[in-house]
Amino acid sequence: RIVTHQVQRGVKLMEGVRNIIAVASGKGGVGKSTTSVNLALALAKEGARVGILDADIYGPSQPRMLGISGKPTSKDGKKMEPMEGHGLKAMSIGFLIDEETPMVWRGPMVMQALEQLLSDTRWGELDYLVIDLPPGTGDTQLTLAQKVPVSGAVIVTTPQDIALLDARKGLKMFEKVGVPILGIIENMSFYICPKCGNEDDIFGHGGGASMAEQDGVEFLGAIPLDRSIRSEADNGAPTVVAQPDSRLAKIYIELARHV
Ligand code: ADP
Repeated sequence: RIVTHQVQRGVKLMEGVRNIIAVASGKGGVGKSTTSVNLALALAKEGARVGILDADIYGPSQPRMLGISGKPTSKDGKKMEPMEGHGLKAMSIGFLIDEETPMVWRGPMVMQALEQLLSDTRWGELDYLVIDLPPGTGDTQLTLAQKVPVSGAVIVTTPQDIALLDARKGLKMFEKVGVPILGIIENMSFYICPKCGNEDDIFGHGGGASMAEQDGVEFLGAIPLDRSIRSEADNGAPTVVAQPDSRLAKIYIELARHV
C-alpha cells in the first residue's frame, strides 16, 4: 500500500516530487538517519521512485550510509544531478565537501545551503522524497516546514523518557506549523541476545506507543536494537538492501507501508 499524501502548499520547488516525507527526532543518536534510509529503501523496494535528502548540514550521514562517494555533476551548469545509491536518488552536503571538513557556519548559511540542496537538485519524477532532518526544533525544521510542501512528518524516538520528551516537542512544532504527523516510530525498542535469546528493553518499554496514544497520532511500529542494523549502515548497504528477506527488512517494509 503506497498512500499518496497530497502536497498542500503550492511552492514550485520541486515539480516532479509527489510526496515529501520529513523524518525528524527530538534528540540526536536515536537512529533517525538509519531509519530514514531504510524507510526510503523499503519504499523503493515496494516499487516507488524515491529520493533522499540529507538535511543535516553539520553532520551529514547519508553518503556513508548509502556507500556513495564522488561529487554531483551538472548537465546545464544550473542544477545538480542527484547521486544514486541502491536505486535511490540522493543529495547531501556531504557530497559537496570532504568528509572531515567541519561546516563552521551560522544559521543563515545553513539555511541557504539547505534550500540549494533542495531546489538546485534535478530530482526528476519522484513518488517520495524522504528528508532526513537534523535533530531538534531549530532553523532547519522551521525553514523546511514553511518553505517546502511537506506532506507529513515521521517522528523517530527511542523508548527512553528523555528521548520521548524531546520527540514530543518535535511533534508539537510540526503541528504548530501545520505539517501533518504521519506517526511515531520507536527505534532501539528492545534487544534480543543472540546467545541466549533473552529479550531486554534496554531503553524502557512501550514509550513510543503510549506517547502516540496520548498525542492522538499513529504508532507506526517498533524497530529492535540489532548489531546488523548498525554495521550494515556503517558499511554503506543498509539492512533493507543488505539482507532483503530478513525479519529486520520486513519490519522496515511494514513501516513504509504504514507511512
Ligand atoms: P541519528 O540520525 O538519530 O543521529 P543514527 O541513525 O546516526 O542516529 O544512529 C546512531 C547510531 O545508532 C548509528 O551508529 C547507527 O548505526 C545506530 N543505530 C541506529 N538504529 C539502530 C538499531 N535499530 N540497532 C542498532 N544500531 C542502531
